[in-house]
Amino acid sequence: MVKITCDVCGKVRPDPDTRIAEDKWILGYDLEVENANALQRSLRFLNRWDNSRVLELGAIHLCSQQCKDGYISKARAA
Ligand SMILES: [Zn+2]
Repeated sequence: MVKITCDVCGKVRPDPDTRIAEDKWILGYDLEVENANALQRSLRFLNRWDNSRVLELGAIHLCSQQCKDGYISKARAA
């Protein structure tokens, strides 16, 4: 079993088979795409959590909308 933690605050995602009422976790991708002149960062978020994709390349795991917003602003600043 892989331990998933929030990429912003470090919170550990509860076991998927414990039925926690709210599943606010957000799965996204943070990929760097190389252009002709620059490395471009591409942030994408899935509509819903998908356990089968959590380990894909560039996958990011966020526990809440706040952490998602935090992640986006951090990415923009970088
Ligand atoms: Zn978080």
